[in-house]
Amino acid sequence: MASGGDRKAVSVSIAVRNVTKTFGSFTALDNVSLEIPQGSLVALLGPSGSGKTTLLRIIAGLESADSGEVQFDGRDIGDRTARERRVGFVFQHYALFRHMTVLENIAFGLRVRPRRLRPSRAEIAARVGQLLDLIQLRNQAGRYPAQLSGGQRQRVALARALAVEPSVLLLDEPFGALDAKVRQELRRWLRELHDEVGVTSVFVTHDQDEALEVADQIAVMNAGKIEQVGTPDEVYHNPASSFVYNFLGNVNLFHGRVEDGTARIDREATGHLLFVRPHALEIGRASVGPNSLRARTTHINAAGPVVKIEALTEWGARVQVEISQDRFAALGLRKDEEVFITPRDLAIFTNDQRVS
Ligand code: ADP
Ligand code: MG
Repeated sequence: MASGGDRKAVSVSIAVRNVTKTFGSFTALDNVSLEIPQGSLVALLGPSGSGKTTLLRIIAGLESADSGEVQFDGRDIGDRTARERRVGFVFQHYALFRHMTVLENIAFGLRVRPRRLRPSRAEIAARVGQLLDLIQLRNQAGRYPAQLSGGQRQRVALARALAVEPSVLLLDEPFGALDAKVRQELRRWLRELHDEVGVTSVFVTHDQDEALEVADQIAVMNAGKIEQVGTPDEVYHNPASSFVYNFLGNVNLFHGRVEDGTARIDREATGHLLFVRPHALEIGRASVGPNSLRARTTHINAAGPVVKIEALTEWGARVQVEISQDRFAALGLRKDEEVFITPRDLAIFTNDQRVS
């Protein structure tokens, strides 16, 4: 494999401009635009059916848009095939060749090149050796896919995609079929690998933790549209819509009104929605102001870094609260107790626009 510097030079920036895609009468992508800087790792995050795979396939050249355009390095590539775009693809279900060893799988894309484009045997061996080191599987080079764990197979799939020095790496729910512990390891590993290789990468996932942990930028998708693009920090702390607020983490939702610039929880009010994350709620035994809600604890889960408490307000709304273990111990809280819950930080949305 070429050095990191060389490799960074071959990947491209991507611009998606006003792309619409319909299947019959169904609009899978509705006027979608997205900038993907060269060398970045961008996650497309959204629920199932939101259009993530369709957008990825259009970038890849496996699907064509009804209107709009995709540019690599500022040039429209609508007439280029997937092969000509030099995309590397990794899918959820590792499509490794079962009858080939790890080494043969990784070398495949180079060995099948026409003679004039094919590296020499020695060059192929050297590049495959470097990729085996990168995915930490040199000792398993002679094994067949059936002899590997799921996580190891996905690492091989990634090395195989990287072997041909793609201009862009596209990953469609690559860890979706793996169990939680392995997924966590692979997230960290993918981020480190990306730092090292630097190829422009688009990573599709429906798992917000995965996107928040792996990506430089997240494009949050909903029903064929991009709701927000931002860094993990931006989309988590400053969600642009109630959809993004909900999708990026647990959230409590209240009706309310705004008086003198201050939000008041009011279950009979209409027009404003107040959002508050579980960790931004205080819990105690006394009311501390007009926004303190009388509630009763219904469930306590202290098995984790924070204590998760569920409570029902006096009008029957379910509220999720997270407090530290220390605070929990100090309160001596139990199930089925009367408490007061007070938001420290409320986000106010009016007609799905954030107003403060
Ligand atoms: P995601 O990857 O976010 O789950 P997809 O891009 O796969 O979403 O699909 C978006 C929507 O488009 C889905 O409702 C899906 O049923 C529809 N869709 C995708 N591909 C096709 C197709 N080839 N024919 C008809 N409908 C499709
Ligand atoms: Mg999909």
